[in-house]
Amino acid sequence: PLDIQELGSNTWSFLHTMAAYYPEKPNEQEKKDMTKFIDLFSKFYPCEHCALDFQHSIKKKKPDVQSRYSLSDWFCQQHNIVNRKLSKPEFDCSKVLERWRDGWKD
Ligand code: FAD
Repeated sequence: PLDIQELGSNTWSFLHTMAAYYPEKPNEQEKKDMTKFIDLFSKFYPCEHCALDFQHSIKKKKPDVQSRYSLSDWFCQQHNIVNRKLSKPEFDCSKVLERWRDGWKD
């Protein structure tokens, strides 16, 4: 059976890492492609009620594909929306690249 928790934490790992390695200065094609990727991802995410909520959420707040920083922040905010829904602690988005790219500063 589908393990929504396991799928979720693995998927967030992938999404935040993808954003953390997205170009600092994406070209127009890359911006288009990332927007499309997020749209298609939201249609095929295997947890159906998660996918429906996510589709609504990204319509309300459109993906910010302008740069690595803006995209990472956007995914962080989207993840926080889900965290709030599930009564999980919110994540400090100023630390998102530290978490998913550079490694925690001691
Ligand atoms: P996760 O929330 O999976 O987080 C994994 C790690 O990411 C954390 O340990 C932390 O280090 C880091 N992190 C936490 N918050 C942030 C943030 N804001 N930005 C960056 N890094 C962060 N589950 C449901 O039950 N119902 C839903 O409707 C639902 N919708 C989902 C929609 C999407 C698009 C995705 C990808 C997942 C969804 N999930 C949903 C799964 C849910 O978000 C969690 O992944 C799952 O509950 C497991 O939680 P976790 O405690 O392992 O940590």
